[in-house]
Amino acid sequence: MPPSEPTGRPLIHPVIVPRADHNISRAHISENALKVLYRLKNAGYEAFLVGGGVRDLLLGREPKDFDVATNASPEQVEKEFRNCRLIGRRFRLAHVRFGDEIIEVATFRASSVADTDPDEVADLSHDGGTGRILRDNIYGTVEEDAERRDFSVNALYYDIRDFSVRDYVDGLPDLRDGVLRLIGDPELRYREDPVRMLRAVRFAVKLGFKMHPKTEAPIGRLADLLSHVPPARMFEEILKLFLYGFGEQAFEGLRHYGLFGQLFPRTEAALAVEEQGFPQMFIAKALASTDERVHQDLPVTPAFLFAALLWEPVRQAARELEAEGMHPGDALRNASFEVVEDQVKRVALPRRFSTPMIEIFQLQPRFAQRQGKRPQRLLTHPRFRAAYDFLLLRAQVGEVEQELADWWTALQAGDPIAPPPATPGSGGTGRRRRRRRGGRGRGRGGNGGGEDAGQGSP
Ligand code: ATP
Ligand code: MG
Repeated sequence: MPPSEPTGRPLIHPVIVPRADHNISRAHISENALKVLYRLKNAGYEAFLVGGGVRDLLLGREPKDFDVATNASPEQVEKEFRNCRLIGRRFRLAHVRFGDEIIEVATFRASSVADTDPDEVADLSHDGGTGRILRDNIYGTVEEDAERRDFSVNALYYDIRDFSVRDYVDGLPDLRDGVLRLIGDPELRYREDPVRMLRAVRFAVKLGFKMHPKTEAPIGRLADLLSHVPPARMFEEILKLFLYGFGEQAFEGLRHYGLFGQLFPRTEAALAVEEQGFPQMFIAKALASTDERVHQDLPVTPAFLFAALLWEPVRQAARELEAEGMHPGDALRNASFEVVEDQVKRVALPRRFSTPMIEIFQLQPRFAQRQGKRPQRLLTHPRFRAAYDFLLLRAQVGEVEQELADWWTALQAGDPIAPPPATPGSGGTGRRRRRRRGGRGRGRGGNGGGEDAGQGSP
C-alpha cells in the first residue's frame, strides 16, 4: 500500500502501485478501451485509463464507462483512429466510436476550468463575477492533469505500459478509507465549477463514501453558485443523480446540503409547506421505485422522473388557478406549462421529455372517469402505462384512494371489475366536472412517442 501522506496537498511524485499489488485486470477493461490505449502507446504516446473506470475497478465495481487520458493532442489522436470524431470548440475531446461504445480520449489538461459538455462552452463565456476560471484551454502534463481533476479517487491513472496504477494526489488512501476529497482548495474548486458540489453528493451516495470535512464544509454556503450553471448541463447532472439506481439517497443528500432547492426551486417551496408527509414522501417513493427499476434493468425515462419531481408544484399552481375560477382541466394544463417554463430556467427539460411528462399529468383526472367506454379508451392511450404507474404512486401516499388504483390494476389484468362507485371521487388535483374536449386539442409541440413503456423510454 502507498504511504499515507497529509491530505489536501497534491504529491509531486506519484505513488506507483505495480501490477502485482492491485486488482485491476485487463479482463475487466473494455476491449475497445484497451485497443485505444495500445494504439496510442504503439504510436509513441503516453496513454492511461483514468477517472471513474479506474476508481470503480479498484473498488471491484463495474465501471459505467472508460475514459482515456494521453499526451497526444486531439489532432494526433484523430490521426490514429478512423472511427474518431473531435468534439468541442474550446476543449477538444476525441470520441473514438466502436458500435455503441464511445471511448473518450482527452489530452492532458493543465487548467482546472469547468469540465463541461464541450457543446455548452458557449454558455460559459459569462463569468458573472462568480470566480469561475474561463481561461482558454492549455494542455499539460499528466501531473497537471491529475491536479485539475475533481476528487482524489477520480484522479488515479492506469498505465498501459506496465499495468501499474499511478497516484499523484493521495487518491489510493482515500479510496481505501472511503473518503471523497476534492483536490486542492475546496472553495476555489467549487467556485471554478459549482457542478462539483452535485458531483460530491453523487459520488458520496453512489460509492457509499464519506465526504472529507473540508470538502463538505463549503457546500451549503456556496449552493447558490449553481444558479450560474447552464441548464443543459444541469439536465445531464440530474439524470446522473436520479437515474442510476441511487436516486432516493441522492435526493436526501441534495436536500441535506441545501442543493435541491437550487435545482427545483418550486418543488423545494412545495416541500416547505408539506401536508401529511406528501409531497416529500411522494418524491421519495417515486425515486425508490425508479431505483428499483434500474436494479431490475428495466427502462427508466426522464419524463417520469420529472413528473414526480414537479407534480406537487403543478398541483399547487392548478389549485390556485381553479380557485380563480378556471376549469380544472385547463387549470392543470396551464399549471403544467407555467411550472415547466419556470423549471427550464434552472434545469433544461427537452421537449421530448416535457411533452410526455405533461401527458402523464393530464391523464391523472381521467382515471377517475370509470363510466361507460372511457376506461377502455384510456387503456389505449400511448401514455397510459406511465400515467398508471404514476397513479399507483399517488395511491401509495394517499393522494387518491387505493381502491381506484386497484380498480385499474384489475381492469388491465382482465379480472372481474367491481362496478365503479356512483360518484367518481378520487384522482386529479381536486374535484372535477365532466367536460368534452374537442378532438385533438391536446397536442402542443408534441413529439411524444407512441409506445407503452410505463416509466420506460418515451
Ligand atoms: P461515472 O461513474 O459517473 O462515469 P466518473 O468519475 O467517470 O464517474 P465522469 O463525469 O465520467 O465521472 O468524468 C470522468 C473524469 O473526469 C472524472 O473521474 C474526473 O477525473 C474528471 N472530471 C469530470 N468532471 C469534472 C469536473 N467537473 N471537474 C474536474 N474533473 C472532472
Ligand atoms: Mg466516467
